[in-house]
Amino acid sequence: MVTVSTLGSHCAMQLLKGAKDEGLNTLLVCEKRRMSLYRRFSFIDKIVPVDSFADILNEPCASEIQNTILIPHGTLISQLGSEDIEGIKVPMFGNKYILKWESDRDLKEQMMREADLPVPDTVNSPDDIDDMVIVKRQGAAGGKGYFMASNTQEYHTRRQSLIADGVLSASEPLYIQRYISGVLAYLQFFYSPIRDEVEFFGCDQRHESDIEGISRIPASNQVISNTPSFNVIGNSPLVLRESLLDEAYKMAERFVDAARRLASPGMNGPFCIEGVYDADARFSAFEFSARIVAGTNIYMNGSPYYDLLFNESISMGRRIGREINSAAEAGRLDIITT
Ligand code: AMP
Repeated sequence: MVTVSTLGSHCAMQLLKGAKDEGLNTLLVCEKRRMSLYRRFSFIDKIVPVDSFADILNEPCASEIQNTILIPHGTLISQLGSEDIEGIKVPMFGNKYILKWESDRDLKEQMMREADLPVPDTVNSPDDIDDMVIVKRQGAAGGKGYFMASNTQEYHTRRQSLIADGVLSASEPLYIQRYISGVLAYLQFFYSPIRDEVEFFGCDQRHESDIEGISRIPASNQVISNTPSFNVIGNSPLVLRESLLDEAYKMAERFVDAARRLASPGMNGPFCIEGVYDADARFSAFEFSARIVAGTNIYMNGSPYYDLLFNESISMGRRIGREINSAAEAGRLDIITT
């Protein structure tokens, strides 16, 4: 029987519960300081304790997970570099080679443009800022050090104050993007190379601190901080207007096609297109995640859209388990792993 493994963080509970519900064995690589949380759950068959997640690359952890299928999630990406991830010998669910396209801003933009996603304009130089922009760091976890500016002068003032505070270094390249005001939406999908079909799984919103808190403060008091952060604290469900779903599917299909061209073998498994609906309900995509997102945790007991598609309550974790079972039955685990 196949054993599914993952790192103890992000959406590990959902992944391993889903795998167990599909009759698979489960293994968790867990930092010792987090053991007390994960020991509570009986759907985890085996826990491999490590001092830090980077130990996954070394013995004895590497041997412990040898005969499993490893499910990548955000923590794997934030803890290991792309090269280390690609070097992992254990079969990984989906496409480990596409993960670097998520981590590198230039590759990310190239992929989104190839998919013809409506990406907010990039502003090439601070001198060209003539409207509200969001200034991003390369791989900033939690959007720390991001800032907003509506003109060149403001850009330089904010940047200098972040450098003075030690948040940014003077040589750090920054990415300037037009700020789109509207309703944030994180669109979750699954592409099955076995069925050759894109499935819309659901949609979530991220609650980000402290940008969210700032809107609760009267405008006159808001100038307390120049540097809001976008640290995700949790997620809540968002049900999109039904009239927006067709376009969501089309974007996802274009994304899957683009990924097949640029990052073979393509966007297999779960992914997310992240953006904003503006006042005309037009979507702008500022990000994608080429693996399961933690926002799917809101549907741990099943996505309403999967109920429509499959007449069953299925979480994203369970959907992955089912894909593994389908591939194993066909003797084609190679199609769904890299
Ligand atoms: P990112 O690191 O690109 O995912 O951005 C972190 C957060 O910044 C997002 O979750 C949004 O809240 C916000 N954000 C990023 N890009 C934009 C944009 N172009 N317009 C509006 N908000 C944005």
